[in-house]
Amino acid sequence: MEIKVEKSLRVKREVLEISSELIFLMGKFLRERGFIEILPVIISPITDPLNHSVFDAEIKYYDGSYSLTKSMIFHKQLAMRIHPRIFSFSPNIRLETEEKKSTGRHLIEFTQLDLEMREATREDIMALVEEMIVYTFEELGRKLGDLIAKMNPHFSIPKVPFKKVRYLEALKEYGKDFENILSEKATEPFWLIDIPIDEREFYDKLDKNGKTLLDMDLMYPYGFNEASSGGEREYEYDRIVKRMEYKGNDFSSMRWYLEEVKKGIPPSAGCGIGIERLTRFVCNLSHVEEARLFPKVPGELSL
Ligand code: AMP
Ligand code: MG
Repeated sequence: MEIKVEKSLRVKREVLEISSELIFLMGKFLRERGFIEILPVIISPITDPLNHSVFDAEIKYYDGSYSLTKSMIFHKQLAMRIHPRIFSFSPNIRLETEEKKSTGRHLIEFTQLDLEMREATREDIMALVEEMIVYTFEELGRKLGDLIAKMNPHFSIPKVPFKKVRYLEALKEYGKDFENILSEKATEPFWLIDIPIDEREFYDKLDKNGKTLLDMDLMYPYGFNEASSGGEREYEYDRIVKRMEYKGNDFSSMRWYLEEVKKGIPPSAGCGIGIERLTRFVCNLSHVEEARLFPKVPGELSL
């Protein structure tokens, strides 16, 4: 594989400035609401099993092995024992297959603003994220509005509350490609809610109906598609075991997590917002690789 050195350094200076400001403002917003920033976990014996397959990213260490973090979901849940409101700018490695390159929104190394709140409902998280986006965009516009206007004619402060669209209703109306279709039609961010159990991992909380989850995706307008995923979490041992069995998850690799869950973890809800995707949206970039220095695009090697 060819190493594409020059491409990694093609990001525009203005884009980096906007991205830096987004990170600062969201951190500021969360701190003002009682959240603390925790340092990210990069390697652990447990990581998100994800709902789609990616190449393995494991590091052998003595008789065991570490996984590179695909998301901090389990560590966020465990952190809820210590502090009720946490966030982290968490680097994630997901060795996606090369066809993901053409989506414009996949890197194999990316960063999530990952947040979690004890005793929260999905509605609490949606309201928090809406408020955070409005605050961040307002402040960003004040400071870097001229810069953004040159790149993005659509940049505006979204109106709250964002519209909520039920996953199954959208699927019925628009067919399989509903996410793209709805995102392209939209001029404001919106939520996709009540995602079916088979479409997500075991840790998203199952609704009483037994079919859909108490979770949500935030969707960008103008075809930029998914911004964030999150929801209420399963936290009770028996329910988690049942969901893992349903999903066919590997119990042995998850034993560390299950042992901790057995001791007890608090109920919580949260979400993760991709920083590169947010930067791409604000700057109106065609591919997420233009949103950061040293991007790692699926199917390529680069600096
Ligand atoms: P997930 O929980 O898997 O939906 O990931 C949470 C968020 O991280 C997504 O909504 C995206 O904003 C971001 N994200 C997930 N996968 C990628 C990727 N391969 N490249 C860039 N951002 C991603
Ligand atoms: Mg998602």
